[in-house]
Amino acid sequence: MENLKKRTWAEISLKNLEDNYRSIRAHLPAGTRFLGVVKADAYGHGALQVAHLLEKCGADYLAVSCLDEALELRDGGVTMPILILGHTPTRFTEILIENNLTQTISNKSKAERFDRACERLGKKLKVHIKVDTGMSRLGFLCSGDMFEEGIENMAASCRLKNLDCEGIFTHFAVSDEPGEENREYTLTQFRLFTDVINALSDRHGISFRLRHCSNTGAVVNYPEMSLDMVRPGYLLYGYGDPENRIGVKPCMRFVSTISTIKHYPAGTAVSYGCRYVTDRRTRIGVLSCGYADGLPRAASGKCTFTGPQVGSICMDMCMIDITDHPEVKTGSEIELFGAENDIHKLAEAAGTIPYELLCSVTKRVCRIYKQDGI
Ligand SMILES: *Cc1c(COP(=O)(O)O)cnc(C)c1O
Repeated sequence: MENLKKRTWAEISLKNLEDNYRSIRAHLPAGTRFLGVVKADAYGHGALQVAHLLEKCGADYLAVSCLDEALELRDGGVTMPILILGHTPTRFTEILIENNLTQTISNKSKAERFDRACERLGKKLKVHIKVDTGMSRLGFLCSGDMFEEGIENMAASCRLKNLDCEGIFTHFAVSDEPGEENREYTLTQFRLFTDVINALSDRHGISFRLRHCSNTGAVVNYPEMSLDMVRPGYLLYGYGDPENRIGVKPCMRFVSTISTIKHYPAGTAVSYGCRYVTDRRTRIGVLSCGYADGLPRAASGKCTFTGPQVGSICMDMCMIDITDHPEVKTGSEIELFGAENDIHKLAEAAGTIPYELLCSVTKRVCRIYKQDGI
């Protein structure tokens, strides 16, 4: 096992994760519940490991994207409440109920289909109503002219007798972006969300135990929007807090090793496409990490890992120029991102965001869980 790990691995600091959880909690209004988002294998950190830690720390809820992710947690012994944020076909209603999973309901016809499936089973399904306040993705429409109809549709869904409507939520589109326009957009989304909640209560006598809307951006920038529960993902893993208001630390360190070192004369073409040609006598290290490990090919020639990365990033390897780094030897560890190499730099080089890099670290990259920091 030790040898296997000596190629490319991701160190995950459980200490940083626990510290992040506590720092976020400390920043929230007293009594706010905490839902940890562990979809996409906990943003690459390992859903089961993260879920067990959150359970131990006293988090209140987990969220995943789909039924398979929820079942992985249940099969792994996680007993805390789990919300499925995405779509689940109604033919899986019995599996949802048997596993005590909470399903998102995003429109009236889905609510009715779940209700009929529950009727046949003679059992109730726990659900959260999803409101589309401006993300324009999942959720009941309710902005502008659609408000009245939206309220009626949500009320009708909540009244279905086989659905236990525990919660209601919405999702922000620009809560993490600076600028007055984005602030205005987020405030409008929040106002619409509270208008919906009030209309359901005043006109229909419907109330919810868990009202939630705060993703990472809102937890950091709008703690006053915390309501009953917050729903951060990215922040928990140590990102999305550029002004260090909460003081979270990255939990993942992506590391590879130098497999071979070679010297080439000037004029030597390197890697597929021969797109890079040495302009001096060059010492090249072959790094055991490629796009099949999660190193984006789009970053080819635009990033630096100790020395500049040169030539196309291959499936399993890439090359770095270590002419100016005589200390790098065969077997040396090279950090791709982590404490020393800010993930934002690699994300920018690849034309993406750190979220995508975290989720892109592939299955063959061994996760090594550490009790200390990284
Ligand atoms: C992914 C997701 C979150 C978490 O978003 P972060 O930006 O990672 O905090 C919260 N709510 C929903 C509905 C999501 O899909």
